[in-house]
Formats: sequence, structure tokens, C-alpha cells
Amino acid sequence: MARTTRFAVLSLLPALAAVVGLVLPASAARDIDPRPSNAELTRQLFDLQLRSRGAVRVSPIGESNRGRPVWSARVGHGPLRVLYVTQQHGDEPLSTPAAVEFLRDVGVGNTPEQRELRERLTVDVVVRANPDGHEQNWRYNYDPEANPEYGEAGKGYDINRYHDPALAPEDNPATEAGLIQRHHADFRPEITVDYHMQGRYVGEDGREITASLMWPTISGVAQEDLDLAKQTAVAAQRAMDEGGANVSQYPGGDYQGIARNAYGLRGSGSVLVELSDIPGQEQFQIRSALTAMHAIARTAADGSLQEIDPAEAEAIPPRGEPITG
Ligand SMILES: [Zn+2]
Repeated sequence: MARTTRFAVLSLLPALAAVVGLVLPASAARDIDPRPSNAELTRQLFDLQLRSRGAVRVSPIGESNRGRPVWSARVGHGPLRVLYVTQQHGDEPLSTPAAVEFLRDVGVGNTPEQRELRERLTVDVVVRANPDGHEQNWRYNYDPEANPEYGEAGKGYDINRYHDPALAPEDNPATEAGLIQRHHADFRPEITVDYHMQGRYVGEDGREITASLMWPTISGVAQEDLDLAKQTAVAAQRAMDEGGANVSQYPGGDYQGIARNAYGLRGSGSVLVELSDIPGQEQFQIRSALTAMHAIARTAADGSLQEIDPAEAEAIPPRGEPITG
């Protein structure tokens, strides 16, 4: 397949890992706003477009139910395509500011490392898939008429249950999910990573879990796509753990409306990342999401992602019991 070819060609190029490294540039010291307003996020994205001299390109993939733009911000022009989606659930914000930092790190500047990454990859980010839910500070989109199978009557749909490949975008009752379905079909990413937040849990060793990952668990995903998803999960887990995280598997279901499963069926190496909602740790969690974004991009670009044994994903420890009170 075309994807395999692209990876194979990339793998023949000189190893880039040592060069690109885990450079976490200017953003490293300052505090990052964990919940920029929709207006502020829009301002940040267009500021990046300007300051990157067009290396970051911002465009709407459509409008939310309340008429807000849902933004795609794309960086790079390489043959290998990676899609990140943030904040489908409006009250799970922290991967959105991480995505802005990622776009800045890759797009603003002209170091050899940045140029290499941009030549090898195209990374598209749906930044804050659910702007109405962010405004409401709730999980759902905004649809007071809704009486959904997945969601809450009088509030809206749970967008992350409406990505089923059998559901045509034009028939999708969850507006923003339909936008993402179309965007995915147009972009056809080799790798798709969907960023969320979860509650608090301990691992089997008693240490708190800071993030959880999972690949498609539905049957029918092509083996090469499942393998790529597991390799992607391991690349993220290693880097996050090296940065002080404690990553587990996420005990997710096999419903095919979930993005993780749906985009696996659609031919992506598809991964879910869940950051734990830990009081006082928002800056750490934003940086942990940023680390995952950089690690996936870097290892995909330098070919080292394809060298990972997919079976290593099974060794990521399970998530343990919830922390209550
Ligand atoms: Zn979520």
C-alpha cells in the first residue's frame, strides 16, 4: 500500500532521531493557559499562521451548531500524514493548548530540525473539535433539541460516539463528528490520535496513573493498521514516561462510533490518549500531551516508529482502580 511505501522510503533516509531529538523549545519555562477562550484560541492560531510565515495554515473544517468555526491547523508538507484531534469533549481541555504549543514548536522557526520534520510530515490538528461544548464547559456539543442515543437530552450529542464509518457525514446528527469524518476522509492520515481526559486512577503498583492509551479494540481493523496504532501508542508512552508520566492502557470499549475504533476501520493507525484530571497538575499534563505529540511526529518522521515491536503495546500496564474522594 501507499502508506507502507512512504514509511519504507523514509526509513532509508539517514536516522533523524538524534538530530531532531526531543527538543522542547521556547515554551519550556512559561505557564500555558489551560483553557483559552474560543476567541483567544482563534487569535493564537492566526498569530501562529502569521509568525510561521505560512508554515502553519489555519482553515475551518466547518461550523459548530452555534456557528463557531472548527479549526484545522496544518503544519508541514511531507508525504506522511498525521492527524491529531483535541477536545471532542468540551470539558476535557488540556490537549488543546498542547496542540498550539506543538504547532508553534514545529512551525515557527527555520532550524534544520524543523525543516526536516516539515519536509517529511504533514501534521493536521483539529484544534478543539467541540468549541460549543468548551463554551458550555460540558462534554457534549450544543443541541437543545437533541434526544440522543449517546449524549444528553436537552444538551447535545456525545461527538465521540458518532464516527461510525457506516454513518454518512451528511446523515450525522452530531454536527462536529460529521465534520471530522469528512476531514479524515479528505486528509487520509496514516496516523490518527484523539486526545481526551479521564478521571484519576492508580496503577497496580499503587502509583497514580497520569495518562492512558489505547488502540482500536473493534474487530475488522486491518492488521497493518492495528500494528501501526500499537507502535504509535508505544512511541507516545515511552516519551511520556521518560518525561515523568505514568502511562497505562485505557480499558476502552469496542463500539465503532468511537473515533479510536472508527478511524482504525478507516485505515489509520488510530490511538486514543487520555490525560488524567489531576488537581494542580495542569501544566504537567499539557506538557505530557505535548510530549506525546512530538514523540509521535518525530518517530514517524525518522522511521523509528516502524521499528517498534507492536507487541510491546501489550506490556503497557493496565489501568487500576479509580481514586475517589
Ligand atoms: Zn473524552
